[in-house]
Amino acid sequence: MNNFRIYKTCRLFSLFLSLIIFNYIKDEVRAVPFTKVILDAGHGGHDLGGTFGLTFEKHLALDVVRRVDVYLRSQGISTKLTRSNDSFISLPRRARIANAESGAIFVSIHFNHARSRKAAGIETFYHSRNKQSLKLAHMVQSAALYKTRAGNRGVKKANFLVLSKNNRPAVLLECAFLSNSSDRYRALDPEYRQRIAEAVAMGIIKFRQSK
Ligand SMILES: [Zn+2]
Repeated sequence: MNNFRIYKTCRLFSLFLSLIIFNYIKDEVRAVPFTKVILDAGHGGHDLGGTFGLTFEKHLALDVVRRVDVYLRSQGISTKLTRSNDSFISLPRRARIANAESGAIFVSIHFNHARSRKAAGIETFYHSRNKQSLKLAHMVQSAALYKTRAGNRGVKKANFLVLSKNNRPAVLLECAFLSNSSDRYRALDPEYRQRIAEAVAMGIIKFRQSK
């Protein structure tokens, strides 16, 4: 093989290699380093969320968000709450709060409610527009299952406004069903809410560390 043919073969080989690397990078969703976590407690004020007797989703969601906030700040991670008290914040405003922070990720906390009292477990939603969101959703969901041993309802796509109008990696976690008696019993236990909060923080930290 003369020098020119060796040169051509090397060029072709390096082109082939760079194409493989490019495709690998393109397919591999890398976590973007973030500077702040926007914690969104679902509902608030006149919007009670799901209810069962005097158990209101809005109170439980805020309690979990406060616990996540304490945990993340103890790890040196900066946070911002869309609401820190029992006030009503519209869905578009929640998304705007996230969009105003260029290096943020967004985590919304809710408790579920269903007509069927049998429905139970934990699920995490994301909007398909943002691939980072899917990755974050998987990390939060698996950490939540690991910490609570609750039923797995999976990671699901959704068009919820706080996700669809959100330009940041954004997920929405449903921590338990208030309409299910054993889920509700767990949701009312501060220890369960602490475990969920630590799981959310763990998922966020894992997302930050992921390559
Ligand atoms: Zn809700």
